Amino acid sequence: MSEVPRFWRESRHRYRLVGTRCPKCDTLYFPPRVICPSCRRESVGKMVEEEMSGEGEIFSFTVVHDGLEQFKMQIPYIMAIIKMKEGPLVTGQVVDCSPEEIKIGTKVTATLRRVRAEGKEGIIQYGYKFTVTP
Ligand SMILES: [Zn+2]
Repeated sequence: MSEVPRFWRESRHRYRLVGTRCPKCDTLYFPPRVICPSCRRESVGKMVEEEMSGEGEIFSFTVVHDGLEQFKMQIPYIMAIIKMKEGPLVTGQVVDCSPEEIKIGTKVTATLRRVRAEGKEGIIQYGYKFTVTP
């Protein structure tokens, strides 16, 4: 278990919901962009990193019954597009609930979860998943 904190430190930035905001038109992008596609040259070097709250709501979703190999253990699983409170749309898996429990507009919260463990050394990968906001 002592490996986990080190992994966390090294990957802290990667596993937070950090986007970039264009100060000119005030649009927040996730995944982060280095240039605003609307303001282009005027945004170069001016994009500002901003961490999102992790709160959002289901924008659309689909129940997957036969997915990628890495998800085989979790079939069926729910993949959703989440509209974050801050605006951007984020794709992610919704966990700890059944498909009947969610609908368009259901409030969800991003959480850091183990995605998979691989190899003899059991390197554990973490990523975002979403849970229904209590
Ligand atoms: Zn802009």
